[in-house]
Amino acid sequence: MNIDIKYIKYHDKCCNIKEKNEVTYITFPKLEEYEDDLLHGFSTRLGGVSKEHLSAMNLSFTRGDDPDNVMENHRRFAAALGYDENRLVFSDQVHKTEFHKVTEADVGKGIVRESDIKEIDGLVTDVRNVPIITFYADCVPLMFYDPVHHVIAMAHSGWKGTVGRIGEKMVRYMGSVYGSDPSDIICAIAPSICQECYEVSEDVAEQFIEMFGLEDDIEKGSMCDKELLYKKPNGKYQLNLYKACEMILLDAGVLKEHIDITDICTCCNPEFLFSHRASRGMRGNNAAVMMMR
Ligand SMILES: [Zn+2]
Repeated sequence: MNIDIKYIKYHDKCCNIKEKNEVTYITFPKLEEYEDDLLHGFSTRLGGVSKEHLSAMNLSFTRGDDPDNVMENHRRFAAALGYDENRLVFSDQVHKTEFHKVTEADVGKGIVRESDIKEIDGLVTDVRNVPIITFYADCVPLMFYDPVHHVIAMAHSGWKGTVGRIGEKMVRYMGSVYGSDPSDIICAIAPSICQECYEVSEDVAEQFIEMFGLEDDIEKGSMCDKELLYKKPNGKYQLNLYKACEMILLDAGVLKEHIDITDICTCCNPEFLFSHRASRGMRGNNAAVMMMR
């Protein structure tokens, strides 16, 4: 790999970078502790066959790529991680907070047959040998694993999903459907946009201030939690979605020591990862995959 990766200074190093058959991908140490049971990985741009702004490992069929290239990318990525790409289950990800309980009946939906999983931003399953996949290019990927009840889940937490507390909703969903205890759940906040790269307008910032109940801090002029959000002279804000997601997971009862937070930003590393902001929308998609063996 000939790319210098820019890491986030204020984070402890927590992303592992792996390479197999020239496919480079990212894993998380807290999830890797369970690798006998769990397979997981987050794709990079390296190791695929797509061209130009989709170069090279675009795993999405919705970005205008040649479907043959996308399929070849899936073959390569699946071979590197060790799952059968024909068994993948996709969702459509529409910036809402609805989930789908994946069963054996969903196998192959989105890759070898049409998917009827619509208006869904979170996939969850307790079925083994069913790989689930979700897509990103700056939005926050949340990955969940309950090693006690053997449940995996992923949620797509862009700013709208984060305001909608999708991470907490997924923890509650895993509890109600599978009996998961929040204190058992291991989470990863995977590569996405960092605070330094993520300027948002006042109306977006206000939704976060309201959701976290920070109005008093603003009133007092203490500028709420600077680590979460700060205002700039131009009236815009810099928002830390990692911090927001972590706060939401902690509120849900996930233990701090069970959360891995990325130290690699998509927008700081546009040659390594697809970034919507860095590319002004001319980009493919990174993907996160999880499966229980
Ligand atoms: Zn960044």
